[in-house]
Amino acid sequence: MVKPFLPQLVYVEPGALAYPLGQELLHKFEQLNIEIRQTTSHNQIRNLPGETEFQRYRIAKSTLVLGVRKTLKFDTSKPSAEYALPLVTGCMGHCHYCYLQTTMGSKPYIRTYVNLEEILDAAQQYMLERAPEVTRFEASCTSDIVGVDHLTHTLKKTIEYFGRSEYGKLRFVTKFAHVDHLLDANHQGRTRFRFSINADYIIKNFEPGTSSLTDRIEAAVKVANAGYPLGFIIAPIYLHEGWQEGYTSMMKKLSELLPDSAKRGLTFEMIQHRFTKPAKRVIQQNYPMTKLELEESKRKWKWGRYGIGKYVYTDIEQEEIKDTLGHLIHTYFPESTIEYFT
Ligand code: SF4
Repeated sequence: MVKPFLPQLVYVEPGALAYPLGQELLHKFEQLNIEIRQTTSHNQIRNLPGETEFQRYRIAKSTLVLGVRKTLKFDTSKPSAEYALPLVTGCMGHCHYCYLQTTMGSKPYIRTYVNLEEILDAAQQYMLERAPEVTRFEASCTSDIVGVDHLTHTLKKTIEYFGRSEYGKLRFVTKFAHVDHLLDANHQGRTRFRFSINADYIIKNFEPGTSSLTDRIEAAVKVANAGYPLGFIIAPIYLHEGWQEGYTSMMKKLSELLPDSAKRGLTFEMIQHRFTKPAKRVIQQNYPMTKLELEESKRKWKWGRYGIGKYVYTDIEQEEIKDTLGHLIHTYFPESTIEYFT
């Protein structure tokens, strides 16, 4: 089992110590004898140890920055929610196709915000603007927040905040099984807890440093027993030799391990593998031995956000994916909902 994350190095931004959580975390890491450095700003973190970019990238992935979120304007987060809730950036995982490699390229370290109350106050303003309509917030747009939350409990406090809210709902997704501290959070059913799942071949080859499929499903069972609305994101759906069998075993395993009570009200989201030209360059630099198929000529080009085109599967392949996975979901989980395929 992948061990819960513990940073090798901690940076503290000066403003962070003005917040009780900043103080608390500093104290915790001092007790754990982890090296702590002060920084004037996270943008100044240039002197990470390591001889090469490759080494520095790996050290950055085990570095935690205690920071303050200054911008309280939230990004939108379609199709899964109205807004992205900024709590953490960066991740300790090493998924070859991780979207953070391009979106957070120059800042691969993990930065957790200690001014949680200010962030939640800003969320409240967004909720009031749309009330009485419900506003959904996605907490995992810039990180895998569950992977670090056993240290910070920021997510736990946020879950309880949304439990008390009238117009807000929270959702997030994880590839980590370290959920125990979240099981007694007073969520009031207002948080949808999702796990990212994939065929074994894909997790083994492309998702180093994250929990195994079995561990994720076992964590999902605990989450369901704690009464959370539960969901699964199958992402990225990746065509490889034997992919139909791979996804069939994944669904079968999920169906066998989940209790019947957890199967009602389940949601599924399906996201096909895609890449951009800049992402391909970064992946090949950070994971030079990757087996990931990144051949543009085998894909369909699609207009993407910010004017950067992305490469997705061809129309025929997309239909095959939708048919195969849609059929599996309906067979094993007839009472679930497929939210979208993209
Ligand atoms: Fe990226 Fe998610 Fe993997 Fe972390 S777990 S490296 S956020 S894909």
